[in-house]
Amino acid sequence: QEQTGNSLESKNALDCVELWLKEKMSAYENTLEKRASRIPLQQILGQQEFMGLTFFVNEHVLIPRQDTETLVELVLNEQKDKNVSILDMCTGSGCIAVSLKKLGGYACVEGADISEEALKVAKRNSEEILENSDVNSSRTGVIFRRSDMFSAFPETERFNVIVSNPPYIPSAVIEELEPEVRDHEPRGALDGTADGLYFYRILAEECAKHLTPGGHVYFEIGYDQGAAVKELLDIHGFKDTRVIQDLTGKDRVVCGTWQIAGV
Ligand code: GLN
Repeated sequence: QEQTGNSLESKNALDCVELWLKEKMSAYENTLEKRASRIPLQQILGQQEFMGLTFFVNEHVLIPRQDTETLVELVLNEQKDKNVSILDMCTGSGCIAVSLKKLGGYACVEGADISEEALKVAKRNSEEILENSDVNSSRTGVIFRRSDMFSAFPETERFNVIVSNPPYIPSAVIEELEPEVRDHEPRGALDGTADGLYFYRILAEECAKHLTPGGHVYFEIGYDQGAAVKELLDIHGFKDTRVIQDLTGKDRVVCGTWQIAGV
């Protein structure tokens, strides 16, 4: 009697293990199929490291790139005053804004994006990554605003620093990118129109209106856009414009200081 009971129990246990294994296998196969269809690993896992922090990502945001750490590190090195206000235009996942708030402890960091879906991701990252920050709770987070470039910013609103990693890939070049990027990352976060410079033209003009005198801009750029973007800033009256290289020696960031013309 007892023996029959035991073998029944062990048969049940074996069934359980088998079911568990089957479920695991099918989940694993599902993941492999996704990857085989060139969905980026980061979208499958739902996360990407950036500046030593773990950011949630999905198909609505550009996956944070190591190149962009060059911009964040430059701002952290140069902006030592914690009281500055910083705007991150085209914030996407919020990786730049949230890193600056977390690692730089700046008093006011704002992020803006045209995409409502991207802003949901950015807010989630702000909540998750900044939640345990020891800054006074009302000042812990990044403030996000939906805006098509500066359209939701009143003329009078000014920041000490404006940073941006706008879409900058020339439209035709997007077709040559890997399927992971071309087919699965948001086109709106990549496409800088025919010459890739569309958003820098807007930034050069609008940042002049939305920076305090002596304020700074830092823009991520494509490796071959340094001269063109620097010239745009020069034309619009920015001073001390510079092109900074990333860790591989490629041009990656253009920066400058705003001064009222003639001063
Ligand atoms: N650096 C990204 C890429 O290589 C593009 C980022 C952007 O357009 N802002 O795909």
